[in-house]
Order: sequence, then structure tokens, then C-alpha cells
Amino acid sequence: MKRRNFVKTAGLASAAGLLSACRSQTSTATDCGPGQAGGKHEWKMVTAWPRDFPALGTGANRLAERIGQMSGGRLTVKVYGGNELVPPLEVFDAVESGTAQMGHGASYYWKGKVPAAQYFAGVPFGLNAQEMNGWFYYGGGLELWREVYRPHGVIPYPIGNSGVQMGGWFNKEILSVDDLKGLKMRIPGLGGEVLARAGGTPQNIPVAEIFTALQTGTIDATEWIGPFNDQAAGFNQAAQYYYYPGWHEPGTALEVLINQAALEQLPQDLQHIVQYACQASNLDMLSEFTARNGESLQQLREAGVDIRPFPDEVLQELQRISLEVLEDMTSNDELSARVYASFKAFFGKVRGWNEIGEKVILNMR
Ligand code: CA
Repeated sequence: MKRRNFVKTAGLASAAGLLSACRSQTSTATDCGPGQAGGKHEWKMVTAWPRDFPALGTGANRLAERIGQMSGGRLTVKVYGGNELVPPLEVFDAVESGTAQMGHGASYYWKGKVPAAQYFAGVPFGLNAQEMNGWFYYGGGLELWREVYRPHGVIPYPIGNSGVQMGGWFNKEILSVDDLKGLKMRIPGLGGEVLARAGGTPQNIPVAEIFTALQTGTIDATEWIGPFNDQAAGFNQAAQYYYYPGWHEPGTALEVLINQAALEQLPQDLQHIVQYACQASNLDMLSEFTARNGESLQQLREAGVDIRPFPDEVLQELQRISLEVLEDMTSNDELSARVYASFKAFFGKVRGWNEIGEKVILNMR
């Protein structure tokens, strides 16, 4: 066969394949609406991070690239840093209203609007990164997360995890539970609630102002993320002690939000591409955090930073209060209670396994 004829025939065959695929998927008309299957789609992704912010902003960029590559350019995603299209804390609203088709953030940011959302980012002394993924994909967590966002027409996907965070940067030594009393610390979310009950004063300061607040003594301490981001923020120039572990964020999951109507307008194959690109990005971000935290911690050590553990007594008290806070917070909200019950049930199962598995090996290495 002449090459030209072959191309022509192959083209007809694939067009016929496409048509029959369309006929077999008539359950949702948008799958094969006029021009949809071969058409181009342009999406916007708003993010809760400054543009190109290490691991988080760059993770959003890589997700957008991945979707473009996997779809052969049929679905392109333009990424907006925080405040470029909407403020960081309005990402959820922007996706709900359709201002953007996608958002990239963390579910605990929306706890004022959707109280049950925060458990999908993680809880103090709760699941680590690996366990969070187990809960999402095989423990019913992602189904519940979708149910929680469904009334808003928004679909969530786990999109990465910081891994366990650091306890934070302190200009006051923490030698006992008493040292938490009166401690002015930048620590948002559930961790902040716990610190308040321990007698401290939690503050929620915008990222850009943390360094100055620490340096001038407006706050005594701050938590941020882990060695990679903390080093980039220069907190070692403003604080004396770097405490571990990040009891309040043992494995914080990040999320992508997708406008449900926008997703359903895509042909099925593009919907799958979005789903699997998110799953690939989920692995990618945790891998980056793991690698870069290791490098940065080594550099901070070499620079002589005073890195120390919280005393056991302090961690035990914080854990006791954390459990109290979590029980109280779920008592008034039926959905939060169901999410936390699922979280706890999964935790109970996976903890037994990790006690004799990962934990033993980690302790012995
Ligand atoms: Ca943090």
C-alpha cells in the first residue's frame, strides 16, 4: 500500500473507532458532544501558594505540565500563584463558582466553610504520609472527602504530602510543659487549638510576615514546614532552637480541587488523564519533600543550628490535649464525626501493622 493511502485509511479507521466509542458512551452526552472528543480545553488552576513556591507551587506547575503532556495538548492548564487571580484563601470559592476549573491548596484552609475538610489534611499525632494515602485510596478516605465536597460541586484529589513536619523554630527553650504557658507561637489549625489549651497563645501570621515577627520578638516561636522550606525561609537567622517532631502535622496532605461540572464536560479519556496525573503528582511531591528535607537538614546541621527534640513529657501532654480537642470538635458536626470515625478506625488498623513493621525498622537503622 502506498504510504499516502495507508495514512488515509488509518485516519478513517481511527475516526470510525472514535465514533463507535462515542456511541458506546451515550450515558453522558458530554462525552461525545460536538467537537468534544477531539476539541481543546483550556483550564485555569488557582493556587494557595506564591508562584513557584518550593515543592508546593512547583508541584502545581508540574501537575499542569503533566496534564498537558498526557493529553497531547488537548487539555492545557494555566497556573496562577496566590493573589494573581484570587487570594490564596479563596481558592475553594473560586473553584466552586467556576472562576477556575482547578485549585491547589490544603483542605484545612477551608475549615471555616467546611469543618469536616480539615481532617483530610491530617490531625495532630495522626496518620503519616504513607498511612494518609492508604486511607485515601484503600480505606474509604477519598470517598468520604468527595462526599464532604459534593454539595459544593467540587471534587478533591490528594496531590502530595509534606511528610512529617518539624516542631518549629523557638527563641525560648522548651524544657517542660510549663514552658508552653504564655508561649506566643505562629501555629495555625488544630495544632493552634492544642497549644491554646496547653496555655500558649497561637497566632496565625501570613507567611511573608513570619520572619520579621520572629526576629523582633512579636512571637517566641513559629512552625512552618520542614528543613527544605524552613531553610529557604531563613528561619535559622531569626531563632535559636529548631525543635522536632512536628507533632501537630505528622503527614500533611495537599489537595487539588476540581469543578465537577468542568470535569464532566471533558471526554472520558481526559477525565482519566486528570485523575492519573493527580495520582502521579501525589507521589512526586512526597518524593521531592523526602529528598530535599534530607539535604537541607544536613546543611542546617553543618551550619551549627541547635536541633533538639521536645521533651517526652511535653509531647505526652500535647498528645493528651490533642485527643481531647479532636473529640470536642467532632461532637457538634455530624459530618466531622463520621470523617473522624473513619480516620480513627483506619488508624487503629494501620497502627498495629506499623508498630511491628516500619517503626521497628526505623528505630533500628
Ligand atoms: Ca506547618
